[in-house]
Amino acid sequence: MQDWSKISRMPANNIKKLQDELLSKIVQDEIFSNHPYYSNLFKSQGLDPTAIKGRSDLDNIPFTSKQDMLSSEHDPERAKRFILQVPEGLKSTPKPKKFALLGRKCAEPDPTEYRMSQLFYTKGNDLDPIPIVYTRYDLNNLEETGTRLNDILNLKRDDTMLNAFSYAPHISVWQLFHSAMTLGATALHSGGGRVLGMEKIILAMNNMGAPVLVSHPLFVLATLQTMLRQKTDAPSLERVIIGMDYAPMVVVESIKELMLQCKAANNLVQRVYFLSMAKAGFAECSPGFGYHLNPDQILVEIINPQTGKSLGEGEKGEIVITNLDSRGTLVLRFRTGDLTTGGLSSEPCPNCGHTVPRILGDIEHRHDYYDLISEKASVVFNGNALRRYMFGCKDVLAWHAEIVSKNGNDSLNITVKPAGGINEEELATKLQNDIREEHRLAVAVKKGSYEAITNKIGLESGISVKQIFDLRQ
Ligand SMILES: [Zn+2]
Repeated sequence: MQDWSKISRMPANNIKKLQDELLSKIVQDEIFSNHPYYSNLFKSQGLDPTAIKGRSDLDNIPFTSKQDMLSSEHDPERAKRFILQVPEGLKSTPKPKKFALLGRKCAEPDPTEYRMSQLFYTKGNDLDPIPIVYTRYDLNNLEETGTRLNDILNLKRDDTMLNAFSYAPHISVWQLFHSAMTLGATALHSGGGRVLGMEKIILAMNNMGAPVLVSHPLFVLATLQTMLRQKTDAPSLERVIIGMDYAPMVVVESIKELMLQCKAANNLVQRVYFLSMAKAGFAECSPGFGYHLNPDQILVEIINPQTGKSLGEGEKGEIVITNLDSRGTLVLRFRTGDLTTGGLSSEPCPNCGHTVPRILGDIEHRHDYYDLISEKASVVFNGNALRRYMFGCKDVLAWHAEIVSKNGNDSLNITVKPAGGINEEELATKLQNDIREEHRLAVAVKKGSYEAITNKIGLESGISVKQIFDLRQ
């Protein structure tokens, strides 16, 4: 990867030129000869690797979907075909390191760059998790992206961190680990709800006097709500970093408010977009200013999810990524299934001044859109919008929804745990009316226990939560 101090202040045109060079180089030097899936694709489609000179040539390469990478009973090797192989000339025993004058390492390629070091997985919300191979080269990059994350988030060495992401072979936990390591900050990588449990996380945060809490949005909300119920203050807490799951602006505001109610020292909330296939997490310097990308590591396109057509700056669409500096699992034009509501911007960030491209708005999930039938008419139900609405309902402590079908008609059954001191009948009526009006679906609301709901959505047991269940046949 490049020198961050330079690339993070580079004019947009120079960044685009650099990305063109990196794309051309990785296609010609690595992919065409060493990548089983794409070398075969290029040959079968008669694609000339030397003709890929930049992003304007990308349209010639078909998209890669998660299904392309998902191994099956009939084809158990699919994921393996996306792993960059050790180049033919490097397969022998590693040569001793050579050193040039002045003690600088010689840039000769090393086979360990290509050998699997750590295995990660996609979150697996819509399909089975896909394995992603990281090599030593990728882990070195993960340290570099950790440093960059610290820079964008403006984290300092004395920002003691409580990492409450659930322990898993997922980029979120490990990007934060490398972020804390490169920062030299004290950190408790707690393993989250599934390892340490919420009660002990609250205790540890206050015992350590940790100013930084990191987890997925719903876990943070539930932790702060629990502290309020227990009348436990959070006097050392200054900042919450959320990621891993849908994090619209409304949840940022809800967390800020709860931090104040818990008597936190400050109520800064920041969002990070973690993407296993990109091998990094991308932070916002401040909510609403966009996820700052590493343009020397990935190239991002925004496309129309229905037509596949490339979209311009600021247009809402699906995020598609191409690895520009990676070993192990490597993808070209990979459809993430994530939708940005604000599109892409190459303008310098008006808040921090970094010039790297930014993904604006909220990151929705394509798998949370459902094609339903209501009163004999087709309805597209946006589950992201339901989650956004429910994040803003301060009278609801926990909830989940089920999509059910009866006599050819689809509807929603919503189970809620109301906050204490609420008129439950009024709450149920309000939810029914609001949701029916926005989504044009029949809605039934019933009450459930906090434990039953949080267990079902996997608040503590999962690596993120699942709140909408499709029970149609
Ligand atoms: Zn910024």
